[in-house]
Amino acid sequence: MKKIEIVALPGDGIGPEVTEVALKVLKAACSHYDTEVNVIELPFGGTCYEEFGSPVTDEILNICKEKHVVLLGAVGGPQWDDLSADKRPEAGLLKLRKELGVFANLRPIQVYPELAGASTIKQEVIEGTDILIVRELTGGVYFGEPRFTSEENGDPFSVDTMKYSRSEVQRVGRVAFEAARLRGGRVCSVDKANVLESSRMWRKSILEIAEDYPDVELSHMLVDNCAMQIIRDPKQFDVMVTGNLFGDILSDAASMLTGSLGMLPSASIGGDNGLYEPVHGSAPDIAGQGVANPLAAVASSALLCRYSLKMEDAALMIEDAIQSVLQKGFRTGDLYNDAPDTTLVGTKEIEKLLLDVVTEKVSSISSR
Ligand code: NAD
Repeated sequence: MKKIEIVALPGDGIGPEVTEVALKVLKAACSHYDTEVNVIELPFGGTCYEEFGSPVTDEILNICKEKHVVLLGAVGGPQWDDLSADKRPEAGLLKLRKELGVFANLRPIQVYPELAGASTIKQEVIEGTDILIVRELTGGVYFGEPRFTSEENGDPFSVDTMKYSRSEVQRVGRVAFEAARLRGGRVCSVDKANVLESSRMWRKSILEIAEDYPDVELSHMLVDNCAMQIIRDPKQFDVMVTGNLFGDILSDAASMLTGSLGMLPSASIGGDNGLYEPVHGSAPDIAGQGVANPLAAVASSALLCRYSLKMEDAALMIEDAIQSVLQKGFRTGDLYNDAPDTTLVGTKEIEKLLLDVVTEKVSSISSR
């Protein structure tokens, strides 16, 4: 039996509730593929502040870096809102991402047929959508220097700098090309090359590495057109790769295709490190009530299998279990709308249903 160690940072609010489900499903799926997952659980965010006076400690950061693979719940809550910026739970998250050097943020936008009616966009437009957005996370205009505010003839002005180097573009581009090989084999690179110098560098750099991936089809799209195409015909996309600012905006727009925040997983990867977390926050309004939807956290554990453990079969097993539970009509409160053949369930019931499906699959695979 192969043994791997990962770090779990359940965090605050519903973080611990959804992380517990994700870990159980992850362990069950991996055990079938002869892999034992050992979990080092550590405090993070507000919970860590209560214990150590800081949202993350150096020791916790070091353990995360040493183990390379981190599953995170969520951080934050009103009780920590008045803390100074460096003590707030969210500061711990930014520090963790930076220390791990996770430069590529992967957000799958998958519309489950059972939930197609939950989106505000027409069902026939979104049905079958399955996009992977790869966003550059540690460069571009969010980090470029100089950045300052000054004044000219009594008129205040501000400057931000959008800077991309070839190496920055190519390392995130490679993540997109590699991901496309595991999916539909197509990459769409999104930029604003008709106007921006940094986008022309982006496009040239992507074209250069494309030569190493002759099996992947590359296209380019201007970001304004892309914003429109995501809404008009989202099914045309397989993998989309783009810079920090464009990716931030496009991924939030695309997330609305799925209809629910409680369904969206994410992976941030760089070098040997991977940080996996649901897109939603700590949902203080429902924390501790046993009603949180754990599926985004569970889907994040599937991404952990895919990108860090390189266990595609286990990833698919987890994703199939999510789909199976939805097909059977089980919904947590955020998804439930009284539709026929659906049943309202809580977090623990979803956990049991997922584990039943995984165990069922495991025994059917073993008996073949
Ligand atoms: P939120 O995502 O926590 O909640 C928004 C709404 O969606 C709430 O009504 C909540 O009940 C619901 N919701 C979210 N996840 C759900 C789930 N899994 N199941 C069912 N319902 C769910 O966003 P918010 O209310 O703006 O923020 C709450 C706290 O979370 C804040 O302190 C914020 O800073 C923090 N936050 C953290 C992260 C993170 O840890 N990555 C991300 C966003 C917000």
